[in-house]
Amino acid sequence: AKRVVLASRPHGEPGPSNFRVEDYVVPTPGEGEVLLRTIWLSLDPYMRGRMNDGPSYAAPVPVDGVMEGGTVCEVIASNNPGFAKGDIVLAHAGWQTHAISDGKGLRKLDPKLAPISTAVGILGMPGMTAYTGLLAIGNPQAGETVVVAAASGAVGSAVGQIAKIKGARAIGIAGGADKCRYVKEELGFDECLDHRDPDFPAKLKAACPNGIDVYFENVGGAVFEAVFPLLNFFARIPVCGLIAQYNDTTSEAPKWAGAMMRNVLTKRLNFRGFIVRDFASMHGDFLRDMSQWVREGKVKYKEHVTEGLDNAPTAFMGLLKGANFGKQLVRVGAD
Ligand code: NDP
Repeated sequence: AKRVVLASRPHGEPGPSNFRVEDYVVPTPGEGEVLLRTIWLSLDPYMRGRMNDGPSYAAPVPVDGVMEGGTVCEVIASNNPGFAKGDIVLAHAGWQTHAISDGKGLRKLDPKLAPISTAVGILGMPGMTAYTGLLAIGNPQAGETVVVAAASGAVGSAVGQIAKIKGARAIGIAGGADKCRYVKEELGFDECLDHRDPDFPAKLKAACPNGIDVYFENVGGAVFEAVFPLLNFFARIPVCGLIAQYNDTTSEAPKWAGAMMRNVLTKRLNFRGFIVRDFASMHGDFLRDMSQWVREGKVKYKEHVTEGLDNAPTAFMGLLKGANFGKQLVRVGAD
């Protein structure tokens, strides 16, 4: 068996030396336990936070500990009456080929209902993040303008498509012409702008002639600075992620923080940070609606598959700077 551990904590951008691939003996399940074989590992931006020490909403991965992560696994041995050999389950087995579980937190998947990889993508945590953040906080109305960055990614692609279903205008922001073309032509956003274009702020303004009513914040940094002046009175800003800032080593308030707060007051802007589990009570609604939208072709998704656990560190480092095009997955074992 093979696993990837956190070799050291990164300072700034993670590099290969922060990870170590190790061999280990396939563990034996005890009383009430199952042995899992990982098929899909999901790579997600939050893992950058787990590599840091210090206070956050979740505990860090210890140095020499297995990198944390959502997985789709096959049960290959079971001493737990709730699971049989051959069951496919959603698990949180981390960056490793085999793991033991007592069954708590495992969810059985039906491979006939949807491709099993979607359980960590559009029908899993990222899809749920888009659905809950946009609907519970953004509350987009027909005719309003919704803007989302990282628009070709796991969360952003779903945000814009749900906004369209609700009758809003969806404006995406993505890195590069290929991603922008995909977002506009295949996902059906009204427009998509390249944040690396030197004229990006002016082009964003031109694409939002009526201002911005909902800004689904995935990115922070320079993209946020371009969006902020365009926010309308009573705009809603679900603050989901700040991926442009995850490798920052200092956090100083920008010089315009005072002006920003004045606008928050006068324009009555509603910023609200959230972590997807805050909305756990919406999981049933999410699964019902999203499964239906995917079946009907109203929500499309793209997967970026990296082959083999050894390549997980490189794929993860790429995810933090836009090397992925779609939901980043690692195929750890055959399905
Ligand atoms: P994505 O599939 O969107 O991949 C990350 C993307 O971020 C990259 O492809 C890149 O897209 C974009 N990006 C990276 N650096 C920058 C930058 N400096 N400026 C602009 N864009 C950048 O990942 P996810 O959909 O999984 O996650 C999207 C966001 O949602 C992240 O911030 C993540 O932390 C957050 N999140 C929050 C959750 C919560 O519970 N609050 C749960 C899940 C995700 P491009 O090439 O287009 O720039």
